[in-house]
Amino acid sequence: MNIIPDDCRTGIMEITPAYLEERGLGGVILDIDNTLIGHNVPLPTAEVMGLLEELRGAGIRLCVVSNNRRGRVAAFCEKIGVEDYVWDALKPAAAGYERAARLMDLPPEKIAAVGDQIYTDVWGARRAGCYAVLLRPIHKGKEGLFIAFKRLLEKPVLFYLKCKGMIK
Ligand SMILES: [Mg+2]
Repeated sequence: MNIIPDDCRTGIMEITPAYLEERGLGGVILDIDNTLIGHNVPLPTAEVMGLLEELRGAGIRLCVVSNNRRGRVAAFCEKIGVEDYVWDALKPAAAGYERAARLMDLPPEKIAAVGDQIYTDVWGARRAGCYAVLLRPIHKGKEGLFIAFKRLLEKPVLFYLKCKGMIK
């Protein structure tokens, strides 16, 4: 099913070069809010910046796919040193992920797509044929009404994932 992730992890710090190598993956598609940064925080932590550096150093291709507008995505990617990005991605549409795969010059099945929302990140990634990894949101507190609604819809899926032992 398209809303069931391939894997569940507690956060981006678990997406290491070793993790990707074990699964035969060569690239990572990144979500911004609540995946790389908490809400209303301009930059990732030093720890996350270090991980991105480590991934780049290991030859892993990185691309940000975001539903945010061009200006914000471009400025953010420049700050974190990620050259490839897709803005106005309209996730959960597959098109943004497909565009990212072309930018990364990798087939979708060789790409881990990580994000914190089932009906946005996981659904889009699965439709495009990427390896979908659901991460626990960094900070759930101050989300808008639409996201709060999607969080409500996530509950039965999260329950299912717990039953399957994919989430502890
Ligand atoms: Mg997010």
